[in-house]
Amino acid sequence: MSILNASQIFSWMFRLSAQQDYQSLTHKFLEILTEYPHVNNASGYEIYNHKRKISNNVCVDERLIRRFPLNFTKEYDIENNENVSRADLIVGISTSEIDNQGFYSWVILTVKGGNGPDRAMLIEGKLDADALEILQSLREIYQNLVILHDAKERDVLTNLPNRQSLDSKLMQVCQHYADHPIFDKVTEKSSWLAILDIDYFKRVNDNFGHLYGDEVLLTFSLLLGKKFRYNDFLFRFGGEEFVVILNFVTQEKAFAIFDRFREAVEKHLLPVVGNITVSTGLTHISPAAMPSKILDRADKALYYAKEHGRNQVVVYELTPELTAGEGENIDEAELF
Ligand code: GH3
Ligand code: MG
Ligand code: MG
Repeated sequence: MSILNASQIFSWMFRLSAQQDYQSLTHKFLEILTEYPHVNNASGYEIYNHKRKISNNVCVDERLIRRFPLNFTKEYDIENNENVSRADLIVGISTSEIDNQGFYSWVILTVKGGNGPDRAMLIEGKLDADALEILQSLREIYQNLVILHDAKERDVLTNLPNRQSLDSKLMQVCQHYADHPIFDKVTEKSSWLAILDIDYFKRVNDNFGHLYGDEVLLTFSLLLGKKFRYNDFLFRFGGEEFVVILNFVTQEKAFAIFDRFREAVEKHLLPVVGNITVSTGLTHISPAAMPSKILDRADKALYYAKEHGRNQVVVYELTPELTAGEGENIDEAELF
């Protein structure tokens, strides 16, 4: 197999470095991998390592693998790829056995994110030792770019995607429902957006200091990670405000899930600070509305929750005082 020429390699570099965010970078990287001679298929995965408690004093390490890009309309999208689940993530590259003609049938490139999850790229085809060398270099370039994107798109305290990543994810979810419309937002499974704001958080800072405040934010984000599923999207929206895009549930279920989370927060005892509560504004992700409108509705529901006693979930669509201004047109496309 011939070694690639320099102009091909430079063209890959240009294409990778031109990407504006992690999503498009990863799509581009997979596209480039499939252009490699004798590659039949390239797939991306995000890897989450967890400790799962199985009894009072026994914890097991669990590796959960999420396919990239995630199909958020499937209830469970945990991949069971045997090679990926067994791959050694410490080394940058793992391979199949070599066949008697000197070819590998698959190669896994592993990538350590900055403050994001680990990633793995599975490349299937007919690959020789030269290919391995070039793939290894591509892996290093991709990894450097992932680290840069993670720094820009994730919050340093909680490691959650930040406000900037929310905007593009929300656009993507709206686009999905514009292409696959649902007809009854109450009974059909669809997506929901909630803004969660910790109640009286300023008092935590005032009474215990900023460091304890940060600790509360971190604990809150860990609780979010534990209580929501892998096909939901979590963000730190800013300060003590978080956003959850809850996918593929009915309205009733969406409310129940956030109310259960509200209860879990209230019951969770933090060392020194004690317990905190959270108010949530929840709204339907209507593809007819602009993303800014969806955020505005969730914000209005949140404000309503704050005004009416805090520690509660308010659903925009179920609160007549909030929807009154929108009349019948709540799900109609906006003209502008
Ligand atoms: P409410 O129930 O109405 O939401 O009251 P609140 O005190 O939670 O809300 P307010 O907006 O008055 O205060 C939010 C506070 O969050 C003010 C700000 O200092 C604090 N804050 C924002 N970001 C951070 C952070 O990263 N770390 C810490 N420790 N505090 C933060
Ligand atoms: Mg706030
Ligand atoms: Mg607050």
